[in-house]
Amino acid sequence: MLPFRTRLAPSPTGFLHLGNARTFLVNWWMARAAGGTVVLRIEDLDRSRVKEGFVERQIEDLRWLGLDWDEGPLLQSTRLDRYAAAFERLRALGLAYPCVCSRREIRAAAGAPHAEDEGPTYPGTCRGRFPDEAAARETRGGAPAWRFVTPDDEFRFDDRVRGEVRARPARSGGDFVLRTVDGIWSYQLAVAVDDAETGITEVVRGDDLVPSTPRQLALLRALELPAPRYAHLPLVLDGAGARLAKRRGDTELATLRERGVDPEEVVAFLARHSGVDDAGARLAAAAGVGRFSLDRLPRSPVSLRSLPWSA
Ligand code: GLU
Repeated sequence: MLPFRTRLAPSPTGFLHLGNARTFLVNWWMARAAGGTVVLRIEDLDRSRVKEGFVERQIEDLRWLGLDWDEGPLLQSTRLDRYAAAFERLRALGLAYPCVCSRREIRAAAGAPHAEDEGPTYPGTCRGRFPDEAAARETRGGAPAWRFVTPDDEFRFDDRVRGEVRARPARSGGDFVLRTVDGIWSYQLAVAVDDAETGITEVVRGDDLVPSTPRQLALLRALELPAPRYAHLPLVLDGAGARLAKRRGDTELATLRERGVDPEEVVAFLARHSGVDDAGARLAAAAGVGRFSLDRLPRSPVSLRSLPWSA
C-alpha cells in the first residue's frame, strides 16, 4: 500500500465549527480506510490571533467527535527554525525580497487566506526596489516584510474532488508574503514546509483554500520539496449561505458539547452531508470508516438550514 499521511490542521484562533469538523472527519475517514497516518498540526503562528486555551479546547473537541491521531500535536510555533531555513534558501536563490508596502495588507497574510480575505493582486511595487534589507529597513523605518518572487507560470494539480485545477498565482494575488513586518512566517510558507517535511501525502481541506494551492506548489518547486495530493472539499455554509466563521452557538462544537448533544448525532449529520446515505441518526466516527467515499461526496456546498439539535 502507498504511504498515506494526512494532517488535521486547526488554527487555535476561534471555536471549531461544523465546517472544521466535516473536514477533519473526511480526512480521518480517508486516512483510517487507507491504513494511513494522521498528524495533528496546530497552526499557531499568528500570535496576535491565537486565543489562550484554544489548543486544549480544540483537542477536546476533536476527541469528543471520536477522532484520534498518530503523531502530534505538532505546534507550528516550535518549528520556527525550519521556516527560517526555508526562507534563507529562497533568499539565497534570489526568490525573496523585502517589501515596505502597507502594514495592514501584509498583516493579512499571516492567516490562511479563506476566499473572502483574498485581496487585490500585489502589483510588485517592491520587487527589485531595494539592494538589500538595510535599504528597505531605512525606507520603512523598521523591519520590512518579505515577499516571494512568484513565477509567472501556470500551476496545475489533480484535485481529488475538483479534477484538474490550473492557476497562475502571479496573475491572481501576485508575489505573496513569506514573512510579515512583525516577523511572523506566513501561512503559505509554513504549510508548504510542514507538509513536505512531515511527509504529508494527502492534503484535505476546504475549497476556499484552492487559491493557496498553486502558491504552495510554487514554493515547493522552488525549494525542491515533494508536493502532496490535494482534495478540496465543498464548503459548509450557514443557513444564510455564508462561510461558517463567526460565532454561532449551534454550529460550534464546544457549545454542542456543553449542551450535552450526542457527538454521534453530529457525526451522523455530517456523514449524511458527505455522501454517507446510511449514516442513520447516530454514527460513531470509527463506524464511518469504510462507509465514506470521496466519489459520493456532494460536489456543491453544504448549507446548514436546519440542525437536528437546535430545536
Ligand atoms: N489552519 C488552516 C485553517 O484552519 C488550515 C490550513 C490548511 O489545511 O492548509 O483554516
